[in-house]
Amino acid sequence: MSAPNKSYDPVEVEALKPEAVARSRDQALAAIAAATDLEALREVKVAHAGDRSPLALANREIGALPPQAKAEAGRRVGSARAEVGRALAARQAELEAERDARVLVEEAVDVTLAYDRAPAGARHPLTTMSERIVDVFVAMGYEVAEGPEVETEWFNFDALNIAPDHPARSEHDTFFVRGPGGEGESGLVLRTHTSPVQARSLLNRELPVYVICPGRVYRTDELDATHTPVFGQVELLAVDEGLTMADLRGTLDHMVTALFGEGLATRLRPSYFPFTEPSAEMDMVCFACRGASVGNPDRPCRTCSSEGWIELGGCGMVNPRVLTACGVDPGRYSGFAFGFGIERMLMFRHNVEDMRDMVEGDVRFTLPFGMEI
Ligand SMILES: [Zn+2]
Repeated sequence: MSAPNKSYDPVEVEALKPEAVARSRDQALAAIAAATDLEALREVKVAHAGDRSPLALANREIGALPPQAKAEAGRRVGSARAEVGRALAARQAELEAERDARVLVEEAVDVTLAYDRAPAGARHPLTTMSERIVDVFVAMGYEVAEGPEVETEWFNFDALNIAPDHPARSEHDTFFVRGPGGEGESGLVLRTHTSPVQARSLLNRELPVYVICPGRVYRTDELDATHTPVFGQVELLAVDEGLTMADLRGTLDHMVTALFGEGLATRLRPSYFPFTEPSAEMDMVCFACRGASVGNPDRPCRTCSSEGWIELGGCGMVNPRVLTACGVDPGRYSGFAFGFGIERMLMFRHNVEDMRDMVEGDVRFTLPFGMEI
């Protein structure tokens, strides 16, 4: 900037001449119009409206003019800068609108497109039901025991006091894998119950024995609404000194409370199984109606068919013959056992009416049970 000089003629300052100011303005306007995106416009703004732009530099020369010349030069430069500023703002708004419109198109989601996401799976309710039951007993100190599904006839029948001529042997609709060989060699069957794991546990473990045995068993039934040739059982066995029917009862009461909640009465009805003596069927009060449906046609109960009780499974004190067959002294030890079907438990607990739903593997059956672990 030059010092004030009264003899200074504004028309002699090159940058302030009207044609120079007009040229700078026109160059700025042309550059603004030519900017095709916001980044280019930012550069134009620095070049034509920034501190080092021709119009800004011309503006600095005004201070050196004599007072009478300042007003006219100031108006000229000020109006050119204002015009450039308006053009910049207008172009900025235009380019921003273009960008916004482009983003809307580029980032639009076509909700009508087909998707190929794999649906989330869920564990089968039979598995979670079995694990839930097992957990109740593991919490009481029981160990989980497993055995082979292809089992010897001896473990499946003989060791459990079901001799070859025993009627119960033919009542089990058995899949035979291999018939008995010579020299008393035992045949092979697909196990018809989880009870052979009882015998295996007694032979393999130190006394006392407290085991819970979940597993698959096989019968030659046709698949229909209430039968399946493959189903799940859970078997419970406790052998210790001084165990009585009262211990069995208390254990089962605890299981019912853990699985169905407080305050549900249980009862034992005399029954018969070759491998327990005495034997009983165990019932619990219907958890859905708590007996209120009995003799009350206005409040029918699907869960217990308005009978008030639900049959849970068979149980009893381990037959001393089974203990002897497994090398346990029945004079010193006694034991109790309990077994029941997992499908049946799932059917009445969740009102599943058709067993085929459980085995067909349709995820529409499984999903409503949730992602339970
Ligand atoms: Zn009921």
